[in-house]
Amino acid sequence: HFITLEGIEGAGKTTQRDALAGCLRDAGLQVLVTREPGGSDIAERIRAVLLDPANTCMQGDTELLLMFAARAEHLHQRILPALAAGSWVLCDRFTDATYAYQGGGRGLPVEQIATLERLVQGERRPDLTLLFDLPAAVGLARARGRSEPDRFESEQRQFFERVRDTYLARAAAEPGRFVTIDASQDPAAVGAASIAAVQGYLAR
Ligand code: C5P
Ligand code: MG
Repeated sequence: HFITLEGIEGAGKTTQRDALAGCLRDAGLQVLVTREPGGSDIAERIRAVLLDPANTCMQGDTELLLMFAARAEHLHQRILPALAAGSWVLCDRFTDATYAYQGGGRGLPVEQIATLERLVQGERRPDLTLLFDLPAAVGLARARGRSEPDRFESEQRQFFERVRDTYLARAAAEPGRFVTIDASQDPAAVGAASIAAVQGYLAR
C-alpha cells in the first residue's frame, strides 16, 4: 500500500504521517515512513540544492527536473523495494506536490509535468492520497518560524492559494484516489479523519 500525504505548509502532514505509522505498526504492519523531495541519500542531497535560500536564481525548469530527479532515486531505490517486500509506504508529499507547486504555484505547463511523471513513474501512482486542506493564511501562520527558512518561504500567500486550489482540483478530478480532510481542525480530529480514510481505503 502506497499512501501519500499532501497539502500546503502547516497542514500537519508530517504529524499525521507519523501518527498513522504508529497505528499501522501497532497493528503489526511493516511501514516505511518517508518524504519528498528526499527520502534517499542522493534525493536528500538534491533536496538540499532545491531548498537552499542561496539558490534564489534557480530556473523553474531546473526546479522541476530536480524534483523528478530526486523522485526517480527515491521511488526506485526506496519506495518500490519496500512495496515489493510487503511494506506499507507513507510518504510526506509526492507528485501531486509537483503539480501543485511547480504547476499551480510556478505556472509550469501541466503537460511537461505529466511527461516527466510518465518517464519516472510509468503507470505507478499512490494507492491513496490524503489531502490536508486549509486556507493558506492559516497554514502559513502555523508554519512560520518552525524551521530554517528555505527557498520557498519567500513566496507570497497568493502562491500558496494557487497551490491549494491545484490540490483541490486534483482531488476533485480523482475522487477514487484522494480523500480530502479539513486540516484546520485540531490534530486529534484530523488524526481520526486520517484513520477513517485508511479504513475506508482498506474496505473498498
Ligand atoms: O514538505 P516540506 O515542508 O518538507 O517541503 C519543503 C519545501 O519544498 C516546502 O517549502 C515546499 O513548499 C517545497 N516543495 C515544492 N515543490 C514540491 C515539493 C516541496 O516547492 N514538489
Ligand atoms: Mg512537514
